[in-house]
Amino acid sequence: MSTFKACEDHSVTFNGWASTGTAELKQWGYHPRPLGPKDVEIEISHCGICGSDIHTMTGGWGAIKEEVIVGHEIVGKVVAAGAESHHKVGDLVGAGAMVDACGECKDCKAGFDQLCLNRAFTYNDLFKDGRGGKTYGGYADRVRVNGEYVFTIPKNISLAEAAPLLCAGVTTYSPLIQYGAGPGKSVGVIGIGGLGHMAIQWAAALKCDEVVAISTSDSKREESKKLGATKFVNSKNEEEMKAAAQSMDIIICTSFAKDADWAALLSLVANNGKMVLLALPETPLSIGAGAFIQRQVSMVGSLIGGKKIVREMLDFASEHNVRPWIETMPMSDCNAAIKHVQEGRPRYRVVMETGAESKF
Ligand SMILES: [Zn+2]
Ligand SMILES: [Zn+2]
Repeated sequence: MSTFKACEDHSVTFNGWASTGTAELKQWGYHPRPLGPKDVEIEISHCGICGSDIHTMTGGWGAIKEEVIVGHEIVGKVVAAGAESHHKVGDLVGAGAMVDACGECKDCKAGFDQLCLNRAFTYNDLFKDGRGGKTYGGYADRVRVNGEYVFTIPKNISLAEAAPLLCAGVTTYSPLIQYGAGPGKSVGVIGIGGLGHMAIQWAAALKCDEVVAISTSDSKREESKKLGATKFVNSKNEEEMKAAAQSMDIIICTSFAKDADWAALLSLVANNGKMVLLALPETPLSIGAGAFIQRQVSMVGSLIGGKKIVREMLDFASEHNVRPWIETMPMSDCNAAIKHVQEGRPRYRVVMETGAESKF
């Protein structure tokens, strides 16, 4: 007999695929929080696989102590909605990497709710709104979250394609908007994968003068052009690196080799330009300060995007026909899907399907 917790609704069980510290997921059920007035319950049809899911489930970002259901590119149908949720039953919606914030603090009011001290990430986190409870993600049949962090999917975007927009999409769109990507600017994208292939498409749709794909793999040369890149630089090719020196105003860094030469990568940034880190290196960055001072180059980090920018991103994707390139697999094969991602094979995002869409 489990002890009753006020933060658990024992009248229902949500069934998902949980990790206990390895990438091998097992079926597991949990009781969600009671549906609050602002909350929405989503019957999940799709969930994308993000690199963060794998870092979390394997304990790369801290040991897992109890069952964790990952997944934060969640799409489905509203099956229950609190009276203050602004959503109604039947709406086709999505939820991304965060599911709650206080709405009152300086960061929330400035539209940077992803930086709120009382934010709740979608999984492996605690709600901090006083009602208690843990967060569980989208490798499951259902999820209950704050409706403020649930977004209507534009009609011309398929549910499967909508999923990666909610993390990979907004994570790359947000810094491009924040740092002024557009006509007159040259944008570079390091790493052509789940995030990078979105960044290239956004930069092209924003009509940047140049969109430069930067990769260690020549196999991405042709594909990056199809995504909208105007140039390709192999970062292992010294001549190509030299020719591209100081040419990019904004570089979005989505991945890097373990032995990345940060000074060489920074040499690509134009004077007064910025390199934006999205991927999190496992070891501290080691880099001389020369370029920061002598060329007024900066390096900044960026974390997903607040709810306002998620809405803007979905509208922009709808209007400019920006879509992730996806491969779909059944969620019941999640362990095979994860292995596929770990092997670096997808072009470029795996979206898992529960089969619920056929009933919508
Ligand atoms: Zn993610
Ligand atoms: Zn806040």
